[in-house]
Amino acid sequence: MLARCKRELIVHFPVLMDDGSLEIFTGYRVQHNLTRGPGKGGIRYHPLVNLHEMRALAMWMTWKCAVVDIPFGGAKGGVVCNPKQMSQAELERLTRRYTTEISPFLGPTSDIPAPDVYTNEQTMAWIMDTYSMHSGYTVPAVVTGKPLSIGGSEGRSEATGRGCVVVMQQAAQHLGMEMSTSKAAIQGFGNAGSVAAHYLAQAGAKVLAVSDSQGAVYSDKGLDVAKLRRHKAKTGTVRAFGEGEEIPAKDVLELECDFLVPAALEGQITAANAPRVKAKVIAEAANGPTTPEADAILQKNGVIVLPDILANAGGVVVSYFEWVQSLQKYQWSAAQVDDYLGGFMAKAFHGVYSTAQERKVDLRTAATLVAVSKVTEATRIRGIYP
Ligand code: NAD
Repeated sequence: MLARCKRELIVHFPVLMDDGSLEIFTGYRVQHNLTRGPGKGGIRYHPLVNLHEMRALAMWMTWKCAVVDIPFGGAKGGVVCNPKQMSQAELERLTRRYTTEISPFLGPTSDIPAPDVYTNEQTMAWIMDTYSMHSGYTVPAVVTGKPLSIGGSEGRSEATGRGCVVVMQQAAQHLGMEMSTSKAAIQGFGNAGSVAAHYLAQAGAKVLAVSDSQGAVYSDKGLDVAKLRRHKAKTGTVRAFGEGEEIPAKDVLELECDFLVPAALEGQITAANAPRVKAKVIAEAANGPTTPEADAILQKNGVIVLPDILANAGGVVVSYFEWVQSLQKYQWSAAQVDDYLGGFMAKAFHGVYSTAQERKVDLRTAATLVAVSKVTEATRIRGIYP
């Protein structure tokens, strides 16, 4: 049952383009498993979206939700399109029609989308509005990652980086490492990476180097993260920061440091560069940054890997909080969100860490064991219908 996706919906639908022409788009919504609760997972707009990718990402969500113990199954959706070449009006019409086409799956108790690659708060607002128009009343709990003004949650945009640092702090405690005297390097300075850098600096860690798609900046004294975030917001890159020195982006992965945070793309730590990784701990803020071949090399070299389904689950945990708030029509404070997020991430880390100790396996295997066991247990206890 777990090897297959439970439901796969493929839709083809027309969108009126700005020049008056009609274009036919293909979209997907795949639900991998719904045993522990409604489907949860992002919606991606990208030219390379396809059914195989949707299936993999939906399954990934099942494990991620299970490992942090939130009551959701795994789902994913997407539309094959190039959003960079579309106007806002075209994107709105595409989103509204796609939402209508996949509405047999959607609902606050059945399947709750969120943003993913090239979709954002605005996309979620259109989905929520379209679903609400069909229902005849406002249904904020049908999506997460909404703007605050229509029922979004405090702390949602910070959640992934924040959750990642909580997991790192827990790991540091267990490994006898001191966060306040540690050194960190970060690949990718977007949402996940820059927020992780902020909380690492706040915990006293020296952020030695940061890269983005254009280059990297390094300082052995530690970078001024707040200043660097302002520089990136203003110029769109970490380059030409004016402090420290510029280094090739790929060098960031191979620096002498305590913590390495890959927060950019998948497949960054490979068999080619893994032997040169000198970090003691890798915290996977990105999804799938380490290839299986690299994983084996890191393990042999004693590098601890905090796996993606645990390390970057903060985003989906706060999505869960947003859903709860939307259902209850009650807004939590930023402090409440932060407090609950810390609790969920620490509990998830302990579950994975103790499984790794008991079963004498690495943390990625342990996280998968925890996740698959939870879904399996729920499946067994519910029984096979009819
Ligand atoms: P983002 O687009 O905000 O940031 C990505 C960053 O990576 C950018 O700074 C970009 O310049 C940089 N980058 C791209 N190519 C690079 C390269 N070759 N070398 C160095 N840097 C490079 O995206 P994000 O939301 O921060 O997501 C980053 C990763 O985290 C993705 O794998 C994503 O799936 C994962 N993730 C994000 C969230 C979230 O809530 N944002 C949740 C879970 C997982």
